[in-house]
Amino acid sequence: MLFVSVNQLSYSIPHVIDGVELRLDLFPTWNLTDIAKILSKSSHPIMITLRKTAHRSEEEREAKILQLLALKPSFIDLEYDTSKSFLDKVLHSTDTRVILSYHNFQETPRNLDLILDTMSVYPAYQYKIAAKALSTNDALRMLLFARKHNHVSTICMGEKGSFARVLGPVSGNVLNYAAIDEKNQTAPGQLSIEELVNIYRYPRLNRQTALYGLIGNPVNNSQGHIYHNAVFAKKNLNAVYVKMGVTQEELPEFFTLAKEIGFQGLSVTMPLKESVLPFVDKIDSQAKQIGAVNTLLFKQGLILGTNTDGTGALDAIEKKGPVRQKNIVLLGAGGAARAIAFEAKKRKANIWILNRTEKKAQELANALDCQAGSLSEIPSSCDILINCSPDGSTVDLSQLQPNTQIMDIVYVPKETPFLQKATQLGLPIIYGEEMFLNQAAAQTNFWNNIHITIEKMPISSLSTSVYLGCHLLKGTLLPSLCPGKSIIITDSVLQELYGNTLAKLLNAELICIPSGEKAKTKQTQEFLENTLFTMGADRNTTLIALGGGATTDVVGFVASIYLRGVPLILIPTTLLGMVDAAIGGKTAINTAFGKNLIGTIYSPKAIIADLETLNTLPEKEWMNGFAEILKLGAVFDISIWKLAQKNIRDQRLILKAIQGKIAVIEKDLREQSLRRILNFGHTIGHGLEIISQYQMPHGEAVALGCLVESHLSMCLGYLSTEDFEQIKILYSSFSFQLPKNYTRESLFQAMSHDKKRELGQIRFVLIDQIGHAMAFDELYCRPVSHKELESTLLWMEKQYG
Ligand code: NAD
Repeated sequence: MLFVSVNQLSYSIPHVIDGVELRLDLFPTWNLTDIAKILSKSSHPIMITLRKTAHRSEEEREAKILQLLALKPSFIDLEYDTSKSFLDKVLHSTDTRVILSYHNFQETPRNLDLILDTMSVYPAYQYKIAAKALSTNDALRMLLFARKHNHVSTICMGEKGSFARVLGPVSGNVLNYAAIDEKNQTAPGQLSIEELVNIYRYPRLNRQTALYGLIGNPVNNSQGHIYHNAVFAKKNLNAVYVKMGVTQEELPEFFTLAKEIGFQGLSVTMPLKESVLPFVDKIDSQAKQIGAVNTLLFKQGLILGTNTDGTGALDAIEKKGPVRQKNIVLLGAGGAARAIAFEAKKRKANIWILNRTEKKAQELANALDCQAGSLSEIPSSCDILINCSPDGSTVDLSQLQPNTQIMDIVYVPKETPFLQKATQLGLPIIYGEEMFLNQAAAQTNFWNNIHITIEKMPISSLSTSVYLGCHLLKGTLLPSLCPGKSIIITDSVLQELYGNTLAKLLNAELICIPSGEKAKTKQTQEFLENTLFTMGADRNTTLIALGGGATTDVVGFVASIYLRGVPLILIPTTLLGMVDAAIGGKTAINTAFGKNLIGTIYSPKAIIADLETLNTLPEKEWMNGFAEILKLGAVFDISIWKLAQKNIRDQRLILKAIQGKIAVIEKDLREQSLRRILNFGHTIGHGLEIISQYQMPHGEAVALGCLVESHLSMCLGYLSTEDFEQIKILYSSFSFQLPKNYTRESLFQAMSHDKKRELGQIRFVLIDQIGHAMAFDELYCRPVSHKELESTLLWMEKQYG
């Protein structure tokens, strides 16, 4: 229960709280009539607290408590060291729920068991142990203690314990307290309701919440908690991220406690990036080279480490253009400079390390085989200057070429003195915030189990391969696949995000087409054909389709007919594109007679799915792809389902879905039999899309279709109720609503256009268990009469109508 703790009579109650604690000892004045009024009017349970104070004798306080108890508040907080006779009298005579509390404003005692033993001689609703946390480890011990004792709530006081106030529901605390606003704390370290709810999504936290956090010293300035919690909220994950100040000396105990409490991932900041290394069981090669980690993943008892600083910085810089052959000068030779230098070297830039202590610069330069110098020796050929040192702001920028790009890795404040100086000189700048956002996104990926460095999956029926991994658009893979002339075809959103950089990397030309479904028209086809002729594209020119399913469909179609077929590379950038649209050779445009009615089956030279591109994908588009992954799990691979039940963002789902789709098309490229199972959910789904005049998102329609067709499988006696219940749970991440103009007749009408309709009957793919579609004599679908559909449609209308 979350209580807002107030120190005055007038307060306005935020709707999210469970109760109000009146800290009467902190009220400037109050009388019994006022309190009686509050109690009678309040729609929330009230907790009365009247602590010992210097200006009130103990007799007087006890008498007041008895008067207050006569008003029958829902809860009362009594200190456990109040006189025994008083406690005996109160505890055995009141109906009010008693919180027996212990306070230690100096420290967190080592022996919490002993304190609980002393308190629990008295009966109480909850035993509250409030103690000052002098360290993060103190706070973790308190949380673990609450987890082990059902009737104990531990409250950590002081700044070091603030994070533990967020984690109360995760450790099983029954009681938690928040301040009405930042200025009105009633205990040290208390967070405001707004912070708890808006940043940490406190009402949604529970014992199942996955724990993530930042460790370092200090951590106050970090914005990581805002970024990561917003990402968790956007992705609908039951997870929370907190900031914890930890010193080097505290690390051994910290890691023991962090494992015990169940942290799943940590960000690591200064000064711990190197000192955590002895606690890491496995470190990736990049972090090993750098000699520092900034991200940890706890997995099956092991701690895995990586470093995302370098890629974060270089990705921010490369948004403006590739760094290959560019001269990058780094000010500073510490951990961050090291990480950036290694990544820049990997991306073939020329590097200079300049540092106040030249010896340190030289050491790093030797490791990288690059040049070193003092802070005053910025070479005049410098293209990009990155400040990774507190001394950077003393450096003279006036001699730099006017187009030298200036970056600072500090992101609070956004306009650092270093960047302000650059702006005054008119030099182009790159904010540290961009690096922060990139490295944080890479951390999220690492925690979500991207250990797919690069996976190559051949599709023999199409003589092609799917490449899945991270940073595939930056390395040597694409240049090696496009030795000659190549033309990138994409929409304006993706051109800005990835197309321009890619065009520079491949020295390719670029054509921009409309985004989404608007691109799949005869007009776009003609526009592309004409533009390709104008650009002199010949049979050896590779067309690169960069975008979602709509782009890969239309570009694939043009590639298959232009000069009777030219080399094609698909770069799907949506989840749906990666797991479905780009895999399987189908190309298409729409006509007035319907969707996807004109098209070919054509083999691309390669399909390159770079997981990094999903970081910019809007959530609703992500859900579209997730619907396809679940569908494949339902009809073909139960392991997809099991993985999704644990974490819908687990990137291995993408790998498994691609492998699943490949396995299906290898058996039946032309949809004569097994490939039909991929139409599961589509009979109802397409029907609903048509009724909504395509206003209902495709993924949502398919997802609802899969759920409804699972219900149908159950009603027809194929699928067990237990399996259907499991299916229902996973689909609860969608918020379904039938189209406004839905009627049963309109659905039958719309479904009668279905491609699977044969001899006037509507046919459905059906499942007999999660992960298995029924064969029906290798047809993989069977006719279902209107009567057989009735109870399923009734159920759908009742649930989502
Ligand atoms: P889409 O291609 O319509 O793209 C949706 C939107 O997402 C676009 O506005 C695009 O600009 C944006 N976008 C794409 N990637 C992005 C990224 N990484 N970051 C930010 N924005 C991004 O959507 P879709 O769901 O990929 O594809 C749907 C199309 O796929 C339909 O036309 C459907 O018919 C087709 N499809 C084809 C097959 C097949 O086998 N060929 C299979 C399934 C679907």
